[in-house]
Amino acid sequence: MKNAFHVMLIPTLGCPARCSYCWSSEEGSPVMKIETIREVVEWLKHFRKDQVTITFHGGEPLLAGVDFYRQALPMIAEGLRELTPEFALQSNLWKLTPELADVLAQYNVPVGSSIDGPQEICDSQRGAGYFAKTMQGYEIAKAHGVSVRFICTFTSRSVKSKEEIFQFFLQNRFTLKLHPALPSLRNSNPDQWALPPPEYGELLVYLLDQALEHASEIDIMNINDLVRCVFTRRGNVCTFANCMGNTFAVGPDGLIYPCYRFVGMPEYVMGSVSDRPSLETLMNSDAGKLMLQYKEYVDTACGTCRHIKYCRGGCPYNAIAPTAGKIEGVDPHCVAYKRIFDEISDRINTEIFGGPGFEMTGFGTPQAKGSKPKIMTLMHKIVTR
Ligand code: SF4
Ligand code: SF4
Repeated sequence: MKNAFHVMLIPTLGCPARCSYCWSSEEGSPVMKIETIREVVEWLKHFRKDQVTITFHGGEPLLAGVDFYRQALPMIAEGLRELTPEFALQSNLWKLTPELADVLAQYNVPVGSSIDGPQEICDSQRGAGYFAKTMQGYEIAKAHGVSVRFICTFTSRSVKSKEEIFQFFLQNRFTLKLHPALPSLRNSNPDQWALPPPEYGELLVYLLDQALEHASEIDIMNINDLVRCVFTRRGNVCTFANCMGNTFAVGPDGLIYPCYRFVGMPEYVMGSVSDRPSLETLMNSDAGKLMLQYKEYVDTACGTCRHIKYCRGGCPYNAIAPTAGKIEGVDPHCVAYKRIFDEISDRINTEIFGGPGFEMTGFGTPQAKGSKPKIMTLMHKIVTR
């Protein structure tokens, strides 16, 4: 939807897992009170008239417990009925109980969970026992009708096993969504696990080939999104759209930030739900102005890039958080974005306008036997969904 916006609710920054590369959990973090949800509803009632997606994120949002969701979900669904709220939740599923699963199913809350590949690889970076606990939660979710998709974080180590990880997702028929591990701002060795941008770019090209080769067997969400971006010439996920003013996060104490990634960093507080701030007030805060300055900076810094329309300088958090709020460059993943956007654009141009050995099969026409899988075929699959 054109003017849809996104509010992430962070019930706590606490998490029972101890993933080696995690930068977003905080021990001893308080848990959001139901009164804060009431304030969120009152704030959003008069904030915008557009459709809203509410994502519960963390830390681990299920630490808030079943009673929290039994009250919060109907409160939001009914209080914001005019904004037709859709829900989502990001969780490792360790704390999922049958009771919680029933509440999530009742309100159609799809869950994004995290598995980094087969057990050995996953536990080597997320800690012993992680895989088994998440799979246990997954079984509960399935049994109670909760839809679950897994996100796979690729680190500087696990990227070396990309073939094995891909096969794990393929064989289990799991949709694959990937995240590159980011430098941790809370660690003395921030780059230890981070996926270097050039390797991220090569990983995306590898996954593009796999997505084409196995188009009928697996969906790789990032590849679908990237292909759609190039085709429509418009960013369709937050990283490649201007998220400023369209995404907000509310921390456990009701403070508002530009995104869940900034929660707990006092310099990025935009306001408080208890004050029911307008969009204008939020964007006039120091954090709001910084986000808008980044948008303007991208117009110049990326001005000559062929991908600017559907990349928009990548994620502002990646660009400004590591430099303590100074805008000194665009998202460091630029190298990866250029690599994959170039690859997709060049292949599409070859398919549409011809190239050496090119045979036009037409949009959605099944490819000839023995020929290399084509992006047009993948695009056809995406648009006919
Ligand atoms: S700051 Fe980055 S992760 Fe957060 S909404 Fe914006 S693009 Fe997405
Ligand atoms: S690929 Fe790099 S230069 Fe091009 S728009 Fe994206 S961040 Fe800017």
